[in-house]
Amino acid sequence: MIDQIKGLHHVTSMASDARANNRFFTDTLGLRRVKTTVNFDAPDVYHLYYGDEVGTPGSVMTYFPFPNIGQGRPGTGEVGTTVFSVPHGSLGYWERRLGELKVGGLSREARFGSDALRFEGPDKDGFALVEDAADGRAPWTGGGVGPDEAIRGFHSASLRLRDGGATEELLKFMGYEVVDRAGALTRLSIDKGNGAHVIDIETVPGARPADLGAGSVHHIAFAVENRAKQLEVRKALLDTGYHVTPVIDRDYFWAIYFRTPGGVLFEIATNEPGFDRDEDTAHLGQALKLPAQHAHLRPYLEKHLQPLEG
Ligand code: ZN
Repeated sequence: MIDQIKGLHHVTSMASDARANNRFFTDTLGLRRVKTTVNFDAPDVYHLYYGDEVGTPGSVMTYFPFPNIGQGRPGTGEVGTTVFSVPHGSLGYWERRLGELKVGGLSREARFGSDALRFEGPDKDGFALVEDAADGRAPWTGGGVGPDEAIRGFHSASLRLRDGGATEELLKFMGYEVVDRAGALTRLSIDKGNGAHVIDIETVPGARPADLGAGSVHHIAFAVENRAKQLEVRKALLDTGYHVTPVIDRDYFWAIYFRTPGGVLFEIATNEPGFDRDEDTAHLGQALKLPAQHAHLRPYLEKHLQPLEG
């Protein structure tokens, strides 16, 4: 077992429309857009990052909006639900707010003894809010949701798998321990985590594999403090038999990727250097930022990327 992982770093999903995506995460959920850049592997597509004031690891929801992409089909081998943490007593506020804003899929569900408010993103992305009185993370309140209700960051992510056994073993190797079981659900948590330290495994034996598309989670990233810890994790995974990519520079963090036995793409991302490495905190996310290798595309991209505002 390794001890370098501290919880979630970010969750990255696919969207069909950049402007609708931006409106939903900033106006509806009240998160801050902390970075406006492009997909480093497909630079004619945005990579949008939403989170708390500075995009603290464990708060960052990111999107690749591919215009004209087909709708994803939910199934196994993917993240089924991404869950945000909200303050104690705020679920009623959110139920009213999301209802008034005509957000789809609103329903209450009890999970491990607490109420979750389920809802869908603009591409039927699976989300939920849960109250966590013990969550002391500071929220972003510049997005129109006050401090008594605003999202603190991720609470958890739920992996939907045909057979959860091997993934449970992997998560235990990564430092998680099983803290609860209920029917087809297994809850794992990491000790001394960053607040986003829970993973649920939902076993659905007969279900079909998911088809990736709009509304699907592309990958889920776990946080390590720095590059040295990331190399330790990489070596441990390689020694265990996982096929792990080399370290890739994503400008705001360093990343390694590997596929889990259940089919979910996992990433391990560093907390360093962070989203304020090329913009000051007051203006995070406002300007289009391009990595050095795509800087020459700026005139083309500024003309062809869909405007996010308006
Ligand atoms: Zn990532």
